[in-house]
Amino acid sequence: MSAATSPTALRALLKNYGLTPKKGLGQHFLWESRVVERIAGAADLSKKDVVLEIGPGLGILTAALARQAGLVIAVEIDRNLFPLLKENLKDYDNIRLVQGDARTVDFGALLQEYAPGFTGSCKVLGNLPYYITSPLIMRLLDGGFRKELLVFMVQKEVAERIAASPGGKEYGSLSVAVQYSADPQLLFQVPPHAFYPPPEVSSAVIRLNCRKRPAVDVKDEATFFKVVRASFRYRRKTLKNALREAGLWDPTKENIFEEAGILPGRRGETLDLVEFARLADVLLQTQERTE
Ligand code: SAM
Repeated sequence: MSAATSPTALRALLKNYGLTPKKGLGQHFLWESRVVERIAGAADLSKKDVVLEIGPGLGILTAALARQAGLVIAVEIDRNLFPLLKENLKDYDNIRLVQGDARTVDFGALLQEYAPGFTGSCKVLGNLPYYITSPLIMRLLDGGFRKELLVFMVQKEVAERIAASPGGKEYGSLSVAVQYSADPQLLFQVPPHAFYPPPEVSSAVIRLNCRKRPAVDVKDEATFFKVVRASFRYRRKTLKNALREAGLWDPTKENIFEEAGILPGRRGETLDLVEFARLADVLLQTQERTE
């Protein structure tokens, strides 16, 4: 691909194509090939792999992925980037560029269309536009297609929240929701100067190893996530008050905390996934008993 091995070269390349990075689309392009190789290397790729890439931008990561994987399907929202993106990737025949919005595109249908014979689990990578990180990760983890792992560059704070353990201030609904479906590994940090233009925040690369089964068995996922959301919505409150305030628990009725073996004076942020699951199951049982 056209080498842009410095911010100056990258700026000149964009200028040649009449492009300026769009802040609203989170366009911070990587130019440091060492960082790019490290991201691609984090996915343990082989020629058997099918990769979905989110936001190829100018294609620097896409090319690194294509060198290691069998097929790369890359979804980019900004159609203005396509002439330069295609030019940069013209030497690769195992890349399919799709113009679309990663928030709504049907990834299962893309896999069927471009990799019809593929029966394995794909790998998802991307230097994510930060404005959609959390909902996009949740969509990809829920989404109706088989995946083995996700490797993303995200804002450092978001990576820390995803991988956080109970008790700390980073631990929240996002930690529980991601850890329910995947085992997160914080890999390495990337400073702003690795991008053009540099973002205002530091970034980090995180790997999410998808679980074959959720981390905990729950009777009803919707109840589990209702309890989790309520517990963190009112972070400063005790669990008892948080669930009461959310309308999930009526203190005049059964003592769900005793039955779940969890002290009602604890704060939600101290509960691990197993405890949230126990509490949600007991809550569901009491709701069923009173119906
Ligand atoms: N992968 C390139 C790199 O590492 O240099 C670009 C990364 S840049 C942080 C994010 C890319 O995602 C941009 O190219 C942007 O246009 C694209 N993007 C933004 N929102 C998107 C969306 N909703 N769906 C797909 N791509 C999107």
